[in-house]
Amino acid sequence: MSSKKKKNFRKKIRGLEQRRQKVIKELLNFEELLRGSAATVYTKCGRHNCWCKDGEGHPHTRITWTEKSKGYTRKIPDEELPWVKRVTDNYRRFQSLRRSLKNIEEEGRELQKGLADVLITDTRKTKDYLWTKKENRKYNE
Ligand SMILES: [Zn+2]
Repeated sequence: MSSKKKKNFRKKIRGLEQRRQKVIKELLNFEELLRGSAATVYTKCGRHNCWCKDGEGHPHTRITWTEKSKGYTRKIPDEELPWVKRVTDNYRRFQSLRRSLKNIEEEGRELQKGLADVLITDTRKTKDYLWTKKENRKYNE
């Protein structure tokens, strides 16, 4: 019964390690990261004779981000928008990979603890002077 448990823990730990390696591999491929999100906003300039008076306004493409709890906004040249979108997407993906790694590592610690518990119990069962529970004794006899 517990050899099945051992096998299961080992299998899960191996699987997790493979997942971890995949995530690390992807993480190491990034070259350009940019924090923030780019958007086009429309503003009215306020001049009475301007076309924007009745429309949605002049388009401005900009990026906003926060760093150390401070907010930033920068205008982006239109032709730079695809690049900015790509590198900000990179950053989001990078962060998501970091979260995955954190989860994998937490799960790994739990599985390692589980494996240790099973191994300790099984090891104790091999020596009758180490038994801690009467039911173990009955079960094995
Ligand atoms: Zn205008």
